Amino acid sequence: MIDLCNKHALVTGGGSGIGRGICNVLARAGADVTVADINVASAEETAVNMIGQGEIRSEKVDVTSRISVVCLLERVLASSPRVDILVNNAGIIGAKDWWLREEPNDDDWDAVFAVNVKGIATVTDVVSQHMIGNKYGKIVNIASIAARQGSPDNSPYSSSKAAVMSLTQSNALKFAKSGINVNAVCPGLLWTPMWEAIAEKRLRYGGNGFEIAELSGRQLFEKAVESWIPMQREQTPEDIGNLVAFLVSELAINITGQSINVDGGRFTN
Ligand code: NAD
Repeated sequence: MIDLCNKHALVTGGGSGIGRGICNVLARAGADVTVADINVASAEETAVNMIGQGEIRSEKVDVTSRISVVCLLERVLASSPRVDILVNNAGIIGAKDWWLREEPNDDDWDAVFAVNVKGIATVTDVVSQHMIGNKYGKIVNIASIAARQGSPDNSPYSSSKAAVMSLTQSNALKFAKSGINVNAVCPGLLWTPMWEAIAEKRLRYGGNGFEIAELSGRQLFEKAVESWIPMQREQTPEDIGNLVAFLVSELAINITGQSINVDGGRFTN
């Protein structure tokens, strides 16, 4: 049983999908949780529905803005003595209306790298200064199995996630002597708002390697799971939260710089 009592976790993108699942698992393990999201209404919704013994709060943040991240940390530290755990989960797969375009454009490259890569770099830079002072910290970045293999229809996204794995290695080495572990989780296929948009695009333009006539988005997702996931089941936000909870616990004290798949066997390296 993982015990995160008296630990305070800050989770970006906690208002939806995987981030929400991570918040729920950390709260159930006893952590205080700050749910931070650019969509503050969804962060509040996560927070009010969470069950845990620790303190739960929601905050607005835009991870692409250093000033927004600095202000977030100031607000958090005004009511809590420390941040022990940072989960860099906020991520996007394209710029506005990306699923309506057959090919990613310049806006997609800029937006995806701003959130998925520079966003993690900025939040880590700000929060790690606080963690270094405490000589303690656990950082988990949410990458993707898209980093394990190129994707012909969304190279900005897969290359951004490969960059997250590289950033994880760099930061693990950078902070190793400061008592901070930095790891990444690579989720497989999860039916979240992000995948609903992926399905929308694939129903429009194809690109699955199987027949999609007459399928709903959810049916397309189920076919993807059946075709690509050896264990033949979708992953859930709680699956990702369970690995995050392990990585931020004392059980994982000697694990750093790693990127670990939670993908039902899709990639075995
Ligand atoms: P989602 O779209 O449901 O949630 C993403 C959250 O990030 C949203 O709440 C959104 O408001 C927030 N966000 C976006 N931009 C932000 C910003 N600038 N600042 C702060 N918050 C911001 O997506 P999800 O499927 O839950 O994905 C979560 C993470 O998991 C992402 O990093 C994604 O790339 C990764 N991932 C998802 C899947 C999947 O199958 N769904 C697979 C692999 C990896």
